[in-house]
Amino acid sequence: MNKAMNFYGGQYQKATSGAFFENINPATGEKIGDVGASSERDVNEAIASAGEGFRVWSKMSATERGRILRKAADLLRARNEEIAKIEVEDVGKPLSEAIEVDVMTGADALEYFGGIAPSIHGEHYDLGNTFAFTRREPLGVCAGIGAWNYPIQIACWKTAPALACGNTMVFKPAELTPRSALVLAEVLKEAGVPDGVFNVVQGEAEVGQMLTGHPDIQKVSLTGEVETGKKVMAASAGTLKHVTLELGGKSPLIICEDADMDEAVNGAMMANFYTQGEICSNGTRVYVAESIKEEFLNKLVAKTRNLIIGNPSDMKTQVGALISKEHFEKVTGYIELGKKEARLVYGGERYVCDDSEISGGFFVEPTIFETDNEDARIVKEEIFGPVMTVLPFKTEEEAIEKANNTIYGLAAGVFTSNLQRAHRMVNALQAGMCWVNNYNVNPMEVPFGPYKQSGFGRENGLATIDAYTQLKTVYIEMDKVDSPY
Ligand code: NDP
Repeated sequence: MNKAMNFYGGQYQKATSGAFFENINPATGEKIGDVGASSERDVNEAIASAGEGFRVWSKMSATERGRILRKAADLLRARNEEIAKIEVEDVGKPLSEAIEVDVMTGADALEYFGGIAPSIHGEHYDLGNTFAFTRREPLGVCAGIGAWNYPIQIACWKTAPALACGNTMVFKPAELTPRSALVLAEVLKEAGVPDGVFNVVQGEAEVGQMLTGHPDIQKVSLTGEVETGKKVMAASAGTLKHVTLELGGKSPLIICEDADMDEAVNGAMMANFYTQGEICSNGTRVYVAESIKEEFLNKLVAKTRNLIIGNPSDMKTQVGALISKEHFEKVTGYIELGKKEARLVYGGERYVCDDSEISGGFFVEPTIFETDNEDARIVKEEIFGPVMTVLPFKTEEEAIEKANNTIYGLAAGVFTSNLQRAHRMVNALQAGMCWVNNYNVNPMEVPFGPYKQSGFGRENGLATIDAYTQLKTVYIEMDKVDSPY
């Protein structure tokens, strides 16, 4: 029985639209259940509930709010296995990943922002006879709109800082992954979050549009595609909402000739095949120094061959199913294009599992292309699947120029054993998140976010506090008005 429905006013609410959308398990192709799509009335009620919640939550002390969020972190961790299984069914990702990463990194956000909530403060300005000070105040009701690749993590990464700062949240998960945000609602309620502080609405783009167009929402934080980001920003402009956009990418990973080869191969695989390649920050353009390219490709192929593709529920599986038939067709379409534009080095086919339970799943082999054509579409466009392209470079300058030759700027990586070169290169890379000798590592205390058309705003770390507060300046006159009248 699928419980995916709305949650507001501190309880589950049936959608009033009478419309449903299907929740499909991408590994089996089978229906998990029907989800009630929120009507405009439901969305308005969820926003009104968040307004009520704001009156209570914003008046509570930050210490109390922090205590509740830290308790929620513990409760979420206690339900790790249950939530991980939901993510596996909804997303098709391997259980080993969901158990290790998805829920735990969400809980980390609740713990981290719960911990710093009491330390969010303004500043004092000594003006001689008199003084001024600033207050960090919440924005009000925030909307979170999530992508489908890391549903519980995305819900937590938006909700934890929003709530820590005293805001309330109406969250819309992607319609492909509607369920785990509801468990977050249960957990927050159990931890002591008052009714209305965290709310969930369900549906497709039009429900997102109801949020971005609503005058009572002060801030929208979206994780999604660049084109969606542009629409969300345009819609939010109508009421001049604050906006955070965590969008797509086509990030470069540069392997220098002095890199540790085994580490570089591991890094490139992490940057392309984890979560079937459905990760925004993936380093899908792998620039390898020409002198080591053959050796790199040989080792890469040998290791990629050993990856275990299969039933996501099996703890041994390392590559699961793509999220949907539509996305599978997009990814395999790019692979077919790649076969014309580049040299196929490995993979490139649909993977059909022997296991009859998942024979209808949307599995694709981890795929490696090689080309020097910077204009190839597989080099320029986000594929969001397990598709890596290896490209050559001769000099450091050439690598940087090629790496930066993109509209995106989410992430970048460099593998080198030369410390000076590492610093020189990351300083020149146009990306919000750069890794040296590693890839896709995101500790909660470190800000994560984009440059260029990958969006703006930060998640994680203290920088996020700016995104969920507004600064009020208060001037206190200790003397007389210096009046010219
Ligand atoms: P989409 O942009 O398709 O959707 C993201 C969310 O926005 C969904 O909830 C979607 O609803 C909703 N939405 C779609 N159109 C509108 C609209 N006009 N107004 C308001 N809301 C709207 O992205 P995907 O879900 O396909 O996720 C994949 C994308 O997300 C990739 O580009 C990836 O790079 C990016 N991403 C970025 C991350 C980052 O941190 N920078 C992290 C993870 C992913 P629905 O899907 O229900 O129709």
